[in-house]
Amino acid sequence: MRRGGLPGLRICRWCLGRLHSSDPDSAALLGSELAARLGMELDDAGCQLCGGIFASIDMMAEEAAAALRGSGAEVGSFYVSVEIPRSSADLEDELRSGLRLSGGISAKRLAIRLLTRALGARLGIPARAEEPDAVLSFSPRGFRGLSLSPLYVEGRYLKPAGERTRRIGRGGCGGTGRVPREVAGASGEPASVERAIEEHLRLAFGAEGVTITWTGTDREHVEVAGRGRPFLAKLSGAKRRASWVMEEPHPRIASLRLIGGRREAELRASRTLYDVVEAYAELDRDAEELAGLVESMEGTELRTGGRGRIVARALARAEGRALAAAICAEHGADLRSALAGILGVGAEAVRLRVVDVVEDCEGYPLRPPGKGFNARRPPCRQLAQAQGTPEEDQEPHDRGGPQGALPPHGGI
Ligand SMILES: [Zn+2]
Repeated sequence: MRRGGLPGLRICRWCLGRLHSSDPDSAALLGSELAARLGMELDDAGCQLCGGIFASIDMMAEEAAAALRGSGAEVGSFYVSVEIPRSSADLEDELRSGLRLSGGISAKRLAIRLLTRALGARLGIPARAEEPDAVLSFSPRGFRGLSLSPLYVEGRYLKPAGERTRRIGRGGCGGTGRVPREVAGASGEPASVERAIEEHLRLAFGAEGVTITWTGTDREHVEVAGRGRPFLAKLSGAKRRASWVMEEPHPRIASLRLIGGRREAELRASRTLYDVVEAYAELDRDAEELAGLVESMEGTELRTGGRGRIVARALARAEGRALAAAICAEHGADLRSALAGILGVGAEAVRLRVVDVVEDCEGYPLRPPGKGFNARRPPCRQLAQAQGTPEEDQEPHDRGGPQGALPPHGGI
């Protein structure tokens, strides 16, 4: 650089060095050498190209590390974001074209490199550009803040008949997340699976916000048992990113796991899912002939809300005046109305229980429910055993019912 090339410009050793070299490690040393050779005075704190950010890297890293520790968030990786004011970047462009300087490294890139290294040493966790747990933001004025990346979880819910899936209104916790954990409404709000899931996730993950994406829901009269129905949730501001696994499972949540991120969540939300449903109705006449009619639903389409839903498989068994069926149908089919029509009864006479939700019905161990569907249900595991007793049912139960062997392609 020629002498007098920077009239009146205040510049730090890092910026002088980085204009001439793209090696982040040698910028400061190179800048000092150049300044000495050219007889230039350096101004580390008052640099107009970086706002003095490089002179305070250690201080800022210290502040950010303390903030991260103080937040109590369980963070396994981080990412550094740096904002350099537009005016500084414009001045650098002007200078580069005036001095015909090409190459080097931008203030933003060098600051990210140096801050990442300083933070890595203090935090002992890796920096990661993809799906980091926390993003630490800086500007020349200092550490600007910490933001926790959203977590995406996939779970499956269970529901007793008579309970809503979706909540009616918001209210409830008033946005504070400080709510009692029981399922039934303490605040006058009717119990719903949605509320139970939201409250559980908020507490288990220490999350500030919970947004559920439903991949299907169930009408109030439907029971959801077995593996349950999948749902996806986005958790914002989640601090318990590792210790949530220690949390006691919630009775409405059959399973819960972290998934990769937003793209995976979107992909999983867009799947076509099939419900494996057990149906039971007590009739005032012999059910034998009606069982055949129910089985003829297989391969047909039920129109619900203007859209056709395929009934992939249907099995039915008459037990005197009762009819038990197992149906695998595309989610959304109104099986209760369809069955009531076939059986010639009111819809209330048909009881429905979703025992699984799968991506493909083929190969699923479909089986009509045994006697006692109407009885108060024991927990699923006991039920599978009870159904396997010879008094209840003569069929072999090597698959252990819906709670036992699961189709390999069912997915969560
Ligand atoms: Zn500078």
